[in-house]
Amino acid sequence: MRAGVAFTGAGISTECGIPDFRSPGGFWSRNRPISFDDFLASREARNEAWRRRFAMEAAFGGARPGRGHRALARGVERGRLTGVITQNIDGLHHASGVPAERLVELHGNSTYATCLNCGLRYELGWVRTRFEAAGGAAPDCATCGGPVKTASVSFGQAMPADEMRRARQMARSCDVFLAIGSSLVVFPAARLPLEARQAGATLVIINREPTEFDAMADLVLRVDIGDVLDNLFDSP
Ligand code: NAD
Repeated sequence: MRAGVAFTGAGISTECGIPDFRSPGGFWSRNRPISFDDFLASREARNEAWRRRFAMEAAFGGARPGRGHRALARGVERGRLTGVITQNIDGLHHASGVPAERLVELHGNSTYATCLNCGLRYELGWVRTRFEAAGGAAPDCATCGGPVKTASVSFGQAMPADEMRRARQMARSCDVFLAIGSSLVVFPAARLPLEARQAGATLVIINREPTEFDAMADLVLRVDIGDVLDNLFDSP
């Protein structure tokens, strides 16, 4: 393969036990998302957001990178992929060993938290200790009193400008763009395959269900992600 870029969605993490967004009756569909504005406006919404986050931790906190994550990390290590752009917030590409300078977490990362006011980083354990001690009340920043939120991007929250810029640059400069395990309906992330294609890349979509972008792809593989990626970058 020439210079490739992988763009991943929730489908790459399902074999790790983390449900994707649209599975009927799944964890996500039972919980109406808490918008960024609600999080900022209401202490009750902050309490609920952290209650859900710790429930997710109990359910999926032990997830480890799967075959897809490991294959893409190998691809980066062997110079076949110039980078990985992910919409996922589970931190599994990072855990699989993709270095930070080759990884764009477009929607952030829910495995740690930051103060929305001063930007100070907090680990989940710090939040949890205080949340539990306060009977389920979300703690504020110890330094400035600002709201503390997982470092993921909520509905209604601005996309991180630097990550968007890096993702667009990767998409526009690759030869092959692999869209893996995404329904490609969440914008602006879903614009990236289009931008890559317009800039001359070959577009490959790997997803077990049809996507809106199948018609313009050069190759569509309706297969299981782990099965197809498993041996992809094995040879040196
Ligand atoms: P999505 O749920 O909309 O789409 C996932 C797609 O992957 C589906 O079309 C499904 O058919 C396919 N899929 C699932 N498992 C597969 C497998 N083993 N092999 C092949 N295909 C498979 O996910 P999205 O497009 O990433 O959008 C959801 C949004 O929600 C994103 O913004 C993401 O940040 C967030 N989210 C993240 C996680 C996570 O971090 N793991 C999980 C759920 C949702």
